[in-house]
Amino acid sequence: MGFSTKAIHAGVDPDPSFGSIMTPVHLTSTYVQQGLGENKGYDYSRAGNPTRTALETNIAALEGAKAGLAFASGMAAISAVFHLLETGDHVLVSKNVYGGTYRLGKLVLNSFKLNFDFIDTTDVKNIERAIRFNTKMLFVETPTNPTMEITDLNAVAKLCKSRNLISVVDNTFASPFLQNPLDYGIDIVMHSATKYINGHSDMIGGLLALNDKKLIERLKFIQKSAGNMMSPFDAWLCLRGVKTLAVRMARHEMNAMEVAQFLTKQRKVKKVNYPGLVSHPQNRLARKQMRGFGGIISFDLGSLSAAKKLLKRVRLISLAESLGGVESLISHPATMTHASVPAEERKRIGVTDGLVRMSVGIEDVEDILADLKQALAGV
Ligand SMILES: *Cc1c(COP(=O)(O)O)cnc(C)c1O
Repeated sequence: MGFSTKAIHAGVDPDPSFGSIMTPVHLTSTYVQQGLGENKGYDYSRAGNPTRTALETNIAALEGAKAGLAFASGMAAISAVFHLLETGDHVLVSKNVYGGTYRLGKLVLNSFKLNFDFIDTTDVKNIERAIRFNTKMLFVETPTNPTMEITDLNAVAKLCKSRNLISVVDNTFASPFLQNPLDYGIDIVMHSATKYINGHSDMIGGLLALNDKKLIERLKFIQKSAGNMMSPFDAWLCLRGVKTLAVRMARHEMNAMEVAQFLTKQRKVKKVNYPGLVSHPQNRLARKQMRGFGGIISFDLGSLSAAKKLLKRVRLISLAESLGGVESLISHPATMTHASVPAEERKRIGVTDGLVRMSVGIEDVEDILADLKQALAGV
């Protein structure tokens, strides 16, 4: 089955009661049991809910996984993954991950004696050098947020297998339409469903997809124990959104390529980061492991004041955090998504004060370009 067909049908069976083609929102906390130990597969909605199951089956199909798990947010999904660790364990993480991932590791879980190191994962030798006796996990984001660096999934999966590390990939930016990390031997793929998978900026959610039986069992157990699962209504919204993932991603990408090319021609723009540009240092690797380059672009205007002016002047494009929705959004990583990363560290990972990130929406590209043109004129 092709991707679009799976996106529309996987996990979604007509409801046996009335034949409704859409999965019902099963707003229920508990389920009536036929007798002691007899039920229809569900006993309490923290442990399982049919609407959530439909979405979990769907993401598993889209990522080519044996199982999917849906959480209350992308961070809840990441938090569940970090619950696989034990006191004293060491984790290697891509140096410019999502700000929330940095915050969770460095400012929350550090007090549980879990050690996080943020390193350049674009060079496998660099990862190898950073592995310690207590390293248990490698957490990679590719493409990274917001500088759009790419990590070689094949090389990373091999290294993790040989060194007995759990490999995790945050696949939020690519979406399963453009990249399937499990195909390269990665253990766990994670998504902020809030972004492309739902795609309509109307819910918060997180997803995991994986193949290993032991890890599936453990993560299900963690989800049930910690109670950080996705609500049935959010699962329903997300199921509705995911049906159009393929058509949305194709359009995001078309628009983003035009915007990226436009930006490279602007005198006021010092640098454009988009993996689809041949000028991107890892354009070849991106072509090898992704089926496209997605809808996120970051670009440098050289200074905070220039970035401020642009963000003040945009009209169609909204100044907001988040990404992956149908509408174009623009943000300033240094003061928004990466505000909890210390200034020194921001400098090291390339999140400069002049850097602006754009999530290119699926509006008519002429309108997006016109807005950028008029906004840049005032910079
Ligand atoms: C948004 C995002 C997250 C966190 O997801 P939430 O749904 O906001 O909790 C994690 N990783 C990446 C790459 C993101 O963009």
